[in-house]
Amino acid sequence: MTITLLGFSWDASSSYARGAAHGPAVIRSILGSEASSPYSISGVDYRAVISDYDFQSLPETGDAARAAITERAAAALQIGKPLSIGGDHSVTYPILRAMRDAHGPVNILHIDAHTDLYDAFDGDRFSHASPFARAIEDGCVNELIQVGLRSIGPEQRAFGENHGVIMLGADEQDAIPFDRLVDPLYVSIDLDGLDPAFAPGVSHPEPGGLSSREVLAILKKLPASPAGADIVEYNPERDLNQLTAHLAARLIKELAALMA
Ligand code: MN
Ligand code: MN
Repeated sequence: MTITLLGFSWDASSSYARGAAHGPAVIRSILGSEASSPYSISGVDYRAVISDYDFQSLPETGDAARAAITERAAAALQIGKPLSIGGDHSVTYPILRAMRDAHGPVNILHIDAHTDLYDAFDGDRFSHASPFARAIEDGCVNELIQVGLRSIGPEQRAFGENHGVIMLGADEQDAIPFDRLVDPLYVSIDLDGLDPAFAPGVSHPEPGGLSSREVLAILKKLPASPAGADIVEYNPERDLNQLTAHLAARLIKELAALMA
């Protein structure tokens, strides 16, 4: 299995603070740094399973950037599986279009403080607050299971309920229906789903989130090997001692081991 690590340097769809565009380069440097081990907890060397790297820059306009993201994810899917680093969460919608074209509608584990189900945010239908609304409308989603939520407005609650989205708080991990997270499985981790104590380097910190160990435990319980995954919303300008970058690098090693 060929896993391609993709970096999507994009933060123009962020509603508040920019900075996530610098995420991929920083996380990649930590991944290759001598400060951390190359092994997953189960002992898989990421260097043996991630065989391709695609960190090209993106076009500057939203439509062109999204088209390029879909194209690059599709290229990774032709030879194996895409493991992507954002960028803000808007990058997930164009990735999911490529997933749908390759696998049909996917089952998604989505870790986030937010539902990202806004029809539009500040008039932008492709905002980082909207990727899962677009993905559902476009037939990219079979099951959407969200964990870590602690910021749900009535509009997103209604949209989620109307579309059968399972919306769980950070204290409801026992309710995750793992039997629905079957092949083709996609994992999308917005780092603000974790508590800011574990992941301070995000644009929208929301106290009361998941711990690093809880996220790792959830990943360990997945019943299928993910066909694709992403880690988004890392904002190096907000990070402390690169703690969040180290967490993202750990998550990449664990996801790569699960995907291999
Ligand atoms: Mn979020
Ligand atoms: Mn998000």
